[in-house]
Order: sequence, then structure tokens, then C-alpha cells
Amino acid sequence: ATKTQPVEDPLFAPLLAGDRRALARAITLVESTREDHRERADALLTALLPHTGRSVRLGITGVPGVGKSTFIERFGLHLIEAGHKVAVLAIDPSSKRTGGSILGDKTRMELLSRQANAFIRPSPAGTTLGGVARRTREAMLLVEAAGHDVAIVETVGVGQSETAVADMVDMFILLLPPSGGDDLQGIKKGVVELADLLVVNKADGDLARAAQRSASDYLNALRLLYPVSAAWMPEVRTCSAVEGRGIAEVWDAVGRYRAAQGEAGIARRRGVQARAWLWNEIGETLMAALRRHPEVKRQLAALEHDVETGALAPSAAARRILGTFLGR
Ligand code: GDP
Repeated sequence: ATKTQPVEDPLFAPLLAGDRRALARAITLVESTREDHRERADALLTALLPHTGRSVRLGITGVPGVGKSTFIERFGLHLIEAGHKVAVLAIDPSSKRTGGSILGDKTRMELLSRQANAFIRPSPAGTTLGGVARRTREAMLLVEAAGHDVAIVETVGVGQSETAVADMVDMFILLLPPSGGDDLQGIKKGVVELADLLVVNKADGDLARAAQRSASDYLNALRLLYPVSAAWMPEVRTCSAVEGRGIAEVWDAVGRYRAAQGEAGIARRRGVQARAWLWNEIGETLMAALRRHPEVKRQLAALEHDVETGALAPSAAARRILGTFLGR
């Protein structure tokens, strides 16, 4: 192969045809940190780009135990029954800290994972949330190229991962537990502001009434947050993932949301996201190059020590490191 006539990646055609093994291998490729893998991944993604973007991109979050995996399994099965092809990608930055993952991927969504039209991928291992998120964005493009028309990105309600997910999807769904009292527990205001749809799960049995009450509390809280004129006022719904009730209605709400945004609205959101992604890539790539720089590596320990002991101001140390990196 010459430089002007690049050879088509062997994963390209099977992935486009929806081959699951090719899709899985392509995701492994984009997750790799090896530089030759990165080059191949970039070429593959570039070639596939015209075939991406045709899915409904949904983010789903909620605290551990709220019923995310139960809900996504039911929801996914409902969508497959309706003729959709569903992909579930997870972002779990906790796995690097604790060595175990909050999402606990092994035994989850067994029924869904057995479906030919479902593709479930656990969280990539990564050193930073940014690193995990950028690989998930790319995995989303790959599942789209493989013909999945609904892409669900799931994350736990810890840390900053909700923002990362909201920044890569068309619509962000917050699953909530029925709350016992008048405090809207398990909810952070910042996360509610990201949500386009709130779903109170476990609206069944003894919890049914509490779930209804929570739903109206959330709705009242939202009315204070949003102007009446907003293009989309987040809806609040209840469901029982275990009993499978309220699941179809969530998909209906997704449809209303998309209709309210219109194709132009979704395209605008994706454009803003892509631009932010570009800057994120620049940042991550620069940082990686910086950490690899031999002279920077040599200086780093001593400068970090000086900053720790107060001998040197962090800003001065940063300037020195950057000076070395930029060869000034
Ligand atoms: P995740 O940690 O958010 O993924 O939550 P899981 O889906 O693993 O569910 C946590 C627990 O809540 C499990 O014991 C589920 O059986 C239970 N659960 C999930 N959905 C419902 C529901 O709709 N109603 C009730 N009563 N329990 C549920």
C-alpha cells in the first residue's frame, strides 16, 4: 500500500455489515492506548464516520441500586420487540479506584445480552474519567456504524460521570428511587439540571404510593428550575422495571422529546458536543505527550516535591514544565 492509497481496514466491511465480533474488536481497538492501535483506530473511525450518527443517543444514570440494569434490560427488550437494534455502553470510572466496578458488569442484563439485536459493552478501563468517556464516544460511533439505532450510555450517579454522559447523548434520563419523606433524596441539583426526563422507578407494591408522591415532588421542583417558555420541559414519570410497567411510556417520552427538539435541535446539540470533544481530545493528547516527554519526566519528581513542600509555587513549576515541553 502506498501512502496515498490507504488499504481498507479488515474490520471496516464486517463492522458495517453488523458483524458483532468485528464490532467488539473495533471497540477493543479504540480502547487501546498503544500508539499504532491509535493510528489504526483513527483511520477506521474516519472511514466509518459517514455511517455514524443515525441512532437515538440516550444517557441513563442513577445511584447504585436504583434499578438501572433492571430498567435498561426491560427497556432494551421492549425496543428490540419494536424492531430496534440496541447498544448499551457503560461508563464506570469507579473501577480504577476500587479495582471493582459499581456497575458490576458480569451478571447484568442476561436476557438482553442473549438477544441478537442487542450489544452490551462494559465500561472501558481507564485512568481518568476523560479517558473513559472519549473511548465511549468512539464506541458509540462504532455501534452506530454497525447498525444500532438506539445507543444507550449508562453511568453510575457518582462523581462527574453524569456530565460526561450528558455531553455525548441527545437525551439524558435520570432514574430515581421513591423517596420516603419530603427530602428529594438521592438527587443532586446539578444532575437534575442535566436531565431531560426523570423516571421514578420501583413504582410497585409498597413503594407505589411513595413513587407517585416523589414524582409530583420532582415535578414541582422542576417547575421552579425551568421557564415555561423552555423548548422542552423535562417530564417526570414513574415505572416499575421489575414488573415492566411504564417502560413503553418512557420510549414515548423519548419520541416527544425528539419531536420537540427537531432534527435541527439534535444536530445543534451534537455539533456543540463535537466541538467540546475536539478540545477534550486536544487536552488529553497534549497531556499524554507531556507525560511522555523525556526531559519533562526527568524534572517532574523534583518539581512535584518542591511544590509539595512549599518551596515552589505550583504556577511557577507548571511554567517550568511547560517551558521544557515546548523547548523554551
Ligand atoms: P442498579 O444498581 O441501578 O443497576 O440496580 P439494579 O437493576 O441492579 O437493581 C437493584 C435492586 O433493585 C435489585 O434488587 C432489583 O431487583 C431492584 N429493583 C429494580 N427495579 C425495581 C422495580 O421496579 N421495583 C422493585 N420493587 N425493585 C426493583
